Amino acid sequence: MDIFRILTRGASLKKSKNDTIKHAKAQTTSQQRKEQSMQHQVDKETDFFHTRKHTIIEDEDSKIGNEEDEDSVAPPPKIANEEDAAKLRRSYKSKVTGSDVPLPIGSFEDLISRFHLDKKLLSNLLEADFVEPTPIQCESIPISLEQRDLIACAPTGSGKTLAFLIPLVQAVLDSPKTSKLHGIRGLVISPTNELAVQIFHELETLSKSKKDLKVAILSKQLANKINNNIINASKYDIIVSTPLRLIDVVKNEKLDLSKVEELIIDEADKLFDQGFVEQTDDILSNCTHKKLRKSMFSATIPSGVEAMAQSIMKDPVRVIIGHKEAASNTIEQKLVFTGNEEGKLLAIRQMISESEFKPPIIIFLQSITRAKALFHELLYDKLNVDVIHAERSPKQREDVIKRFKNGDVWVLITTDVIARGVDFKGVNLVINYDVPQSAQAYVHRIGRTGRGGKSGKAVTFFTKEDEKAIKPILNVMKQSDCKEGYSEWMEDLDKLSKNEKKSIKQHSIKRKQISTVPKVIKQKKRQRAEMIEGSKKRKYEGDNKKERKEKKEEETE
Ligand code: ADP
Ligand code: MG
Repeated sequence: MDIFRILTRGASLKKSKNDTIKHAKAQTTSQQRKEQSMQHQVDKETDFFHTRKHTIIEDEDSKIGNEEDEDSVAPPPKIANEEDAAKLRRSYKSKVTGSDVPLPIGSFEDLISRFHLDKKLLSNLLEADFVEPTPIQCESIPISLEQRDLIACAPTGSGKTLAFLIPLVQAVLDSPKTSKLHGIRGLVISPTNELAVQIFHELETLSKSKKDLKVAILSKQLANKINNNIINASKYDIIVSTPLRLIDVVKNEKLDLSKVEELIIDEADKLFDQGFVEQTDDILSNCTHKKLRKSMFSATIPSGVEAMAQSIMKDPVRVIIGHKEAASNTIEQKLVFTGNEEGKLLAIRQMISESEFKPPIIIFLQSITRAKALFHELLYDKLNVDVIHAERSPKQREDVIKRFKNGDVWVLITTDVIARGVDFKGVNLVINYDVPQSAQAYVHRIGRTGRGGKSGKAVTFFTKEDEKAIKPILNVMKQSDCKEGYSEWMEDLDKLSKNEKKSIKQHSIKRKQISTVPKVIKQKKRQRAEMIEGSKKRKYEGDNKKERKEKKEEETE
């Protein structure tokens, strides 16, 4: 089914109750009926969070005039056998493979009956408004609680964090502690500090009021204290960290990973990619517990990474929700040819004039220099912008993220440094000012919008130089059913060989400097503004002087 076609026809995914009722009453013709049924299907497919009402299409007529039925929410599915499981899996298009695959859960309450989930955990979940599990949560929680290794791939923004945190916390609570300084039993690693902080906050929410559970993020300060023997790391039960900081403390023999029973690798493909793989390997070789259970999560798991993962796992279960390398189907994707570099700024200005530039917006560029340049350019346009890149201090990055989250910054300009994992609620639009260098980078960048079941838009600019680089992006768009986001001629561009793909990933395209306004003109404009300002000031001072003189004359008269 062409989901994109239906979405762009203006069908709203989040209907108000009244809209739904009016809509139901208006359904008379068979064509309308068919469309409503398709819409229902889209709702089901895009409703990771089960937030929409489970209206029963076949029974539409009986609903007319009986508005109370609108409030009835279908009970969560009961999963008692393989048949029920297959039905549920079909509904959210998942592929679950492996030997002896555990049954999924149909609700969080199932965790109480099947796994004796700690009641406090359940009440913490409900209190934080996590009422029903998302598909990845339905599948991966029982797999993890049955002590199975896991490779999980699910779209951006579909709730992977809780999918690994719930079983992690429960498993750690279930495993007996020999003393207060027993040692770390649960470890989560993530590629960036921002993401580690976010995971830690979710962990705190989940384990609230569990006084017997000590959790920490390995911040710079905590690492220093551990290294200087001010704090003993063994008092913690669960630690969240980036690889490098963790290895640093482990190498100093101040933190022991031999008690870790639960290891979670978030954004696994990144952590098995060049630049991280050695550190990940180091961590794995230090986790020597015989009962160690490993799980890895990402929205993209290329086959090379999967082969590597399979080789270090014991009889893993593999869960794929949706397509393996597709973007979330809550994102409307578009490719825009801008001709040349100058065309990109013009395209942004055109989007502004056509009211398509609706904040909050994130703009991704390929380098720090380019991110800084665009920041200055848009600052000049008096847009409410800020920038995050690796040269800014952790404190500055944290501040900008905070200001973006609470609406003080409308447009966030950045590099791939925050492309993964970071959960900004309600981002309307992601602009790839520069084409991302791989399909994975693209999926993660645009995954900053359309999260938690909300809809979002992603626009990717490209120039003549990018004709090859857009090929992987076109493939993602095809997989995600976004055929209307690109023109046919773009498809005719040559197919990429393996070497070409590799070369695009490794070498970023040399681009012309960002600016449509030549520096001399800018300087002249600035001088002119200063002159006007100066003359206003002089006039004011002159007027004041004149006034004072007249006053004096009046007084002497
Ligand atoms: P992912 O890791 O898959 O990209 P996150 O774990 O960051 O996604 O979750 C995306 C958003 O969805 C977060 O704001 C999170 O709090 C929310 N979320 C997660 N699980 C649920 C749930 N069961 N019900 C409602 N919201 C959820
Ligand atoms: Mg995540």
